Amino acid sequence: MALGIAGLNFGYAGQASPAVAELINWFWHFYENWIKFIFIIAGSILTLRLVAGSSKTTLRKRNLTGFIVYALLIHILGPIVLGNSELYLFSMSLPWNTTPLQLLDPGSSFFADRFPTLGMAGITASLIVYALITLAVLIGTLLMGRRWQCSTLCLFNGFASEVFAPAFPLTGGKKQAGKPTLKVFSFLRWLFFEIALFFTTYWLLHLGGAIPGKSANLFSELEVYKYLGGELLAAMFMWVVFTGRGYCYYCPLGTVLAFLSKAAGQRISTTRSECIECGKCNRACPLAIAIKKEALKKAPVKDLRCVGCGHCADICPTETLRYTTHFLDPRI
Ligand code: SF4
Ligand code: SF4
Repeated sequence: MALGIAGLNFGYAGQASPAVAELINWFWHFYENWIKFIFIIAGSILTLRLVAGSSKTTLRKRNLTGFIVYALLIHILGPIVLGNSELYLFSMSLPWNTTPLQLLDPGSSFFADRFPTLGMAGITASLIVYALITLAVLIGTLLMGRRWQCSTLCLFNGFASEVFAPAFPLTGGKKQAGKPTLKVFSFLRWLFFEIALFFTTYWLLHLGGAIPGKSANLFSELEVYKYLGGELLAAMFMWVVFTGRGYCYYCPLGTVLAFLSKAAGQRISTTRSECIECGKCNRACPLAIAIKKEALKKAPVKDLRCVGCGHCADICPTETLRYTTHFLDPRI
């Protein structure tokens, strides 16, 4: 359904009559906020019930609480208070998409489409919200590592994998990536990162006057197709055939945050007690990280793929594992 409505809104609406385009656009925003709201509530209740039935789910419960509160803020409360039903477009920092940069260009079709409904005050408010979110993501990651964005605030695959996937399990829910798949994901990570940097650089140069305005609408449209194919369709495909966290392997924002999390000292420490080699941590990790091998050596797990979900620490029967950063534990 999401793909169908998104395709109509971003593809067909451009050629439809103004009345039909307006109807499609209204329905898209209705879906993005209110139908999603119903899914958010239903998914949250189902997932919380599942998690509540299990004895060791401390970090997963925190993930769920963060996702649910943030989703309600971005999809329901924020749009009502600010009169902007597209607030979700501003909830992911650069380089995930260039929406905020496009809104800084009064000559862009993105700006022209929003100005009649938002006005200058609404556009300014959206950009302020975006700047505050970006600041919170950067500072939060430097303090708490990727757990802050990828397992608390991300309303894209973080939310889908932690809230929707357990509540509505599709066929790929439990599959683990093998070595060949990891190689493909590693390639995709750098490919998507470079594509994201390409679009970001284009808009920065365009806003700085180095590239004339004529190409702006073309780049804006290209990014929409990238979103429909590379993000929405690919994320759904991963969820159905592989794993809810499939897109997290190559999310460009995740790649940036992975490097910031290095500066934050993010790791899974493995020294709290003795590992009994049960292998539960490896099976629980949605990013296919080999935790047991490090736990046996009492070495920290510092893999760039780690999204800080805490599933490994929750499931470890001997409580050997602990998610931490320099801020959370200054002794490391
Ligand atoms: S290593 Fe642990 S915290 Fe990191 S992604 Fe895997 S299960 Fe989640
Ligand atoms: S879950 Fe804990 S005890 Fe089991 S293999 Fe992993 S670190 Fe060792």
